[in-house]
Amino acid sequence: MDVNVPIGTLWSSFVQANLWPRWNKCFFWARNKSLVKGQHLIWAFQPIKPWLPYKMWAIANIVELGQEQKVTWEVTAFPGMYARHTYHMEHLGDGRTRFGSWEQGMGWGFRLTRWFWLKHFTFVKDESLAGALALEAQYRRTGALNAIDMPKKSYVGFWLLIMLLLAILVALITAGVIYEKYVRITSTELVPGIHVFFGGVGNSLLVQDGGQSLLVDTKCPPGSTMLHRWIEQHGAGPVIEVVNTHYHFDHTQGNSLYHNADKIAYRQVPVLMRKYDDDWWGSHADGIPTDLIDGERVLYVGSVEVMLEHPPPAHTSGDLWVYLPKQKIIATGDLVFNGYYPFLDQPEGGTSIPGMITAVRALAHDHPDAVFLPGHGPLASAGDLLRYANFLEALQIGAAAAHASGWTEDEAARRNDLARWHLSVLPSYHHKKLTWSTSSNDARWAYVLTSSASETTE
Ligand SMILES: [Zn+2]
Repeated sequence: MDVNVPIGTLWSSFVQANLWPRWNKCFFWARNKSLVKGQHLIWAFQPIKPWLPYKMWAIANIVELGQEQKVTWEVTAFPGMYARHTYHMEHLGDGRTRFGSWEQGMGWGFRLTRWFWLKHFTFVKDESLAGALALEAQYRRTGALNAIDMPKKSYVGFWLLIMLLLAILVALITAGVIYEKYVRITSTELVPGIHVFFGGVGNSLLVQDGGQSLLVDTKCPPGSTMLHRWIEQHGAGPVIEVVNTHYHFDHTQGNSLYHNADKIAYRQVPVLMRKYDDDWWGSHADGIPTDLIDGERVLYVGSVEVMLEHPPPAHTSGDLWVYLPKQKIIATGDLVFNGYYPFLDQPEGGTSIPGMITAVRALAHDHPDAVFLPGHGPLASAGDLLRYANFLEALQIGAAAAHASGWTEDEAARRNDLARWHLSVLPSYHHKKLTWSTSSNDARWAYVLTSSASETTE
């Protein structure tokens, strides 16, 4: 390619490698401000077709540099691949210069991907020669090849795209972690016929005997569907009874999946469901428990004895726990969060921290050898329950102290010292909004509960 630019002008512009992307469209970016023999050249190629989603980053050694003549670099960074690129200039007289671009590749890596490299070399040569013509046009227009007259190259779009991709990556990783930690269901068979299901928000218990099943807590979508499918695939007989430990949606929204089951809960539960989650229950009325109990009840699933017991207001004003006396297994519902900060409902839902402390201590005291399935978290021992009761007590004392010191709710949330309990945070969606059970939210909720408790007793 011959151009009407004196070789000195062309060369002095050409050696500023960082300007290449502004006149040669095969380059996306180049770092070097000048060419120096023995140094590294670092740059990135544009893709061979504009719509291909890559930039090819490269590093080479400048092995040959002839003043106003040529530059050659070698790429040896890829295994099995050796590539060599020369830009060459020749003085033709009368202010004319011959400009050429050569590339060659060798090695097994090159041969394996030869189809690509031949296209790439053609792309580089064509764009380089087209770039030389662009420089010639600029020289004709301005009589020089100054950077200021070259078209600007913007990297804003590139960085926006990189940030978008990073954001998507972070979102995918977060979704994966949330799925693994809170959504995915795992099951364990504690004794033959008794399964516990962790995750999918609230935990569940399945009792099977004599061709019948009883399910304690049905989870919410998508966990409820996964649990239902598991029971259909592994079930030893239809679910004839569903027990809800309390009204919260993460333990009850799957109720409607068990059309033929008797739905059992404490008598207060339908009222609370309608009051706080009518959006759901308005269109899933068949899931609202109709077999309501007040006090205790004993059921049999085949020959397995199942006792339902009710404490005074604790996690809500309509709690049940489920006790299998022979197997010494107790599903506590949300009376117990094992390893997590608990969700504390507002006073209207009937949450009572003293009620929880009393109920949890009584369970641990009355059943020292039992295995406890908490509402959230892994299986617990009586010792775990006592520790949890101690946490609740600390929460209660802290809230009372916050009131005594005249702190506001925000101060109580900020100045709490619950981190020493080393509990994990838990997402929950209650009363139409997503909240997280955290140390500061627990302190806040306890503050509100404590103030309304003291107002009602005064
Ligand atoms: Zn709950």
